[in-house]
Amino acid sequence: MSAPELSVVIPCYNEEDSLPRLVEVLSTELPRLVASYEVILVDDGSRDRTLPILREIAQARPEFRYLALSRNFGKESAMLAGLSHARGDKVAIMDADLQHPPEVLAQMLPLLDGDVQQVVARRTRDSDPAVRTLLSKTYYRLMNRLVDVDLEDGVGDFRVLDRTAVQALLTLGETNRFSKGLFAWIGFDTAVVDYRNVSRAAGTTKWRMSDLFNYGIDGVVSFNYRPLRLSIWFGVLVTAVAVLYSLWVLGAAIVHGNSAPGYVTLICAISGFGGVQMILLGVIGEYLGRIYAETKRRPLFLLKETSEHGGRRVPLAVTTVLGPEHSQTGLTNQAREDE
Ligand code: UDP
Ligand code: MG
Repeated sequence: MSAPELSVVIPCYNEEDSLPRLVEVLSTELPRLVASYEVILVDDGSRDRTLPILREIAQARPEFRYLALSRNFGKESAMLAGLSHARGDKVAIMDADLQHPPEVLAQMLPLLDGDVQQVVARRTRDSDPAVRTLLSKTYYRLMNRLVDVDLEDGVGDFRVLDRTAVQALLTLGETNRFSKGLFAWIGFDTAVVDYRNVSRAAGTTKWRMSDLFNYGIDGVVSFNYRPLRLSIWFGVLVTAVAVLYSLWVLGAAIVHGNSAPGYVTLICAISGFGGVQMILLGVIGEYLGRIYAETKRRPLFLLKETSEHGGRRVPLAVTTVLGPEHSQTGLTNQAREDE
């Protein structure tokens, strides 16, 4: 089959309520925008009727394909699975709940010419609760100080990439995928389109407050080691204060005499060692962070079924993460057999 002009990748987790609307909207909108398209629906181990619905959709409409992951791997992995199977010259990523209005694609696609490799949609926060808006704004301000890539508020996973950008993303084999950061990390020229925030078409959000919090921490630690370095500096500070304090106690003891025997030595030793330990912990942490990031060479997702295999379970060779053509990620069969 020849490559379609546009692939649309959609991660779906318990989206039985959203899917019928989604398919309806996409089948009317997409033919207006491009000559040929494919939609890749990725079932991220849903526990509702999402998978049976996907099978029906793929049966009825040739443009719709699906992949089913073996369990819930999370949105990041589901997106990656979709990207690695997308064949189009341009690839759009969007949510299943129609919070990413397909109409916006009409503005995004024309911007993706030879010079621009990524077009991102930026959500305006008009209809968000004020507290959430404030929290996000503060988070992004802090983040941009901490991490080495530029992250923008309101910019999510709704974007269109060209082939170059998709290939670039697929070469990043890290397990801790903070996609917002990865999209920014690969660089390339990026254009931005604004759209109004809309609420979910059906179903409920899968994010709890604790997820958001963890997502925030992931964002910080997956892009640098600055928190660890911070502990070194903190250690240096503690040591410096300890040294100054020790000198002062020592001076006082010399001038006024020693009131409690052993007291001076004790204080100097405790505070001095405390500082040194902090520094050493920071140094060890710095190495540990690096090793941790390098060693976990697990596949980022496993497939259990795809529309190409007529809804059958796929043999293990096909479940390999990014396929042999992406072996530069170090996530080939070989790497997994070594585990
Ligand atoms: N999603 C997924 N796996 C998960 C959680 C979410 O594939 O573990 C999908 C979900 O089906 C939807 C998209 O990611 O298409 C965004 O999820 P949701 O709408 O719950 O997030 P929100 O829009 O509230 O940030
Ligand atoms: Mg949503």
